[in-house]
Amino acid sequence: MKAKAPLCAAAAALAWVAVAGHRPRPAARTAAAGPPFRVRGAPHVHTAFSADATGTVDDVARAARADRLQFVVITDHNSQAALPAAGYREGVLVVCGLEKSTDAGHALVLGTGALPFGLDGDPLEVARDAARFGGFVVAAHPASPDRDLRWTAPWDGIDALEVLNFGAAGSWPHGAAAVPLVGRYALDPTAALLRGFAFSREALDRWDRLLVARDVAGLLGTDAHGGLRAGHVTVPFPDHRRIFALASQYLLLAEPLSGDADRDTRRVLDALRQGRSYLAMDALGDASAFSFEATSPAGRAGPGEDLPQSGPARLTADAGGVEGARLVLRRDGGVVAEGPRIDYVANLSGVYRVEGFLDGAPSGRGPDPLPWIVSNPVYLFPPEELAARRERGALPAAAVRPAGTIEVLDDFTRPTGAEWQVDRDGGAAGAWHDDGGALRFDFRLGPRAPTHAALVRWAPLDLSRATALALRVRGDRPLRFDLQVRTAWPGHTPDMRVWRRSVRAEPEWSDVAVALDTLKTYDHEPGAPDRAHVVGLYVHVDESNLAPGSSGTLWIDDLALVRALETPAPVLR
Ligand SMILES: [Zn+2]
Ligand SMILES: [Zn+2]
Repeated sequence: MKAKAPLCAAAAALAWVAVAGHRPRPAARTAAAGPPFRVRGAPHVHTAFSADATGTVDDVARAARADRLQFVVITDHNSQAALPAAGYREGVLVVCGLEKSTDAGHALVLGTGALPFGLDGDPLEVARDAARFGGFVVAAHPASPDRDLRWTAPWDGIDALEVLNFGAAGSWPHGAAAVPLVGRYALDPTAALLRGFAFSREALDRWDRLLVARDVAGLLGTDAHGGLRAGHVTVPFPDHRRIFALASQYLLLAEPLSGDADRDTRRVLDALRQGRSYLAMDALGDASAFSFEATSPAGRAGPGEDLPQSGPARLTADAGGVEGARLVLRRDGGVVAEGPRIDYVANLSGVYRVEGFLDGAPSGRGPDPLPWIVSNPVYLFPPEELAARRERGALPAAAVRPAGTIEVLDDFTRPTGAEWQVDRDGGAAGAWHDDGGALRFDFRLGPRAPTHAALVRWAPLDLSRATALALRVRGDRPLRFDLQVRTAWPGHTPDMRVWRRSVRAEPEWSDVAVALDTLKTYDHEPGAPDRAHVVGLYVHVDESNLAPGSSGTLWIDDLALVRALETPAPVLR
């Protein structure tokens, strides 16, 4: 009889788990009224416009509303198809960017509006195009164990990185190891996901190394796919709502959201870009009252903000009274203070950021304990160092044509000769004309991929003395095309190799220089072009640049071989 009470208690506990499930630890206090105003949302969300995801934009907005998120950022793979649905939906601000599969990892491209052409895979060109159209780039799951997905490019022009990602390979158990997770998920999805998630500090460590030299924001990679989809097979697990319930990004805004979609979108994107935010594993505990700030006679700064150093600064952080909370203050990656709350006098300059942990809470199955909160840093430096850090983070300027021309191939002052031809496929059309001392190329792509239209200089050429090709280009609108160098490849079928580099044309004339050592084949095969045996130069447009059926016009002028390139001084953004 004595055993009855514990048995009853166990049964009651089981029933409670089945009904109530895992609950986050509550906060004892609420956040002070703004500013800053906390706005909660999910950056990096996929819909059925991604081949590996499910759910419509409205499904995502409903899931976000159910979890009381105020914004979601849709980032489908290489697609802005969700863009027409951006704005307030179901009371949730839907922002649309895209996730570009670059040659060196996945990158979120946010804030550009509708892009007028397809992005190239070169990471630096992605950053240049993002900046050209008023946006920015986030390195997604930069520490993914999958070599094709992790970020391996330089960080030039990259404004943010994900320090925690729910979509990356290795985050969840695979195969037979996933069976217990699926069983547990059916009973208590949040508890199952908290136990199944593998967290590694690798991305945080990478972030700290970057932060030594320059400002860069740390973000949550929600990376919700609405389940798993491969071809016609779809598993609705884990759905958007369950991933949204795990964690969110808290933006710290100077004003609350206004309800005006354009204005609010700009504010949300600015806060994401500048790191005026912290991420929280909401499933562990209520992080809505978390605060972190630095004050000194020079002023006050919160996450993502600069505080010019003038004597000691006081750094305070508070977890809102969540039971078991332990905050860790890091300076340049190293721990300098730790406790239920932080009150620290900083005499040294540096990058100060806070991580929070909940002692005794589920910690995942990863190599490192799962953080509850990761705040963006306060940058405490003398004013000149703050400026230098901004300069280091700026996008490097594109190489320009130098004075050292070796040979002008064509300046188009004489009637264009027979070496210029049009090459097209898949129902495309194209025609060239002499146009006031330049060569004009009008093209229309065919109705379906694959299709291409190219302006070709079909003549043997020896590039062995040159380091770059230079030309002037213009488009009837911003356009990308490939400058292709085709080299002889005897004994192979076809008997030439295609080397290429993507070039952007603008409505105004611009000087473009393509360094020959940056040419790559489409499949990134090893090797270098046989510069002595060039058979043709192509100005090539295909469905990766523009949708099938699109038409456009490009002009080229002053095509030349050059000896060396110059890189102008960086332009501060
Ligand atoms: Zn990705
Ligand atoms: Zn993704």
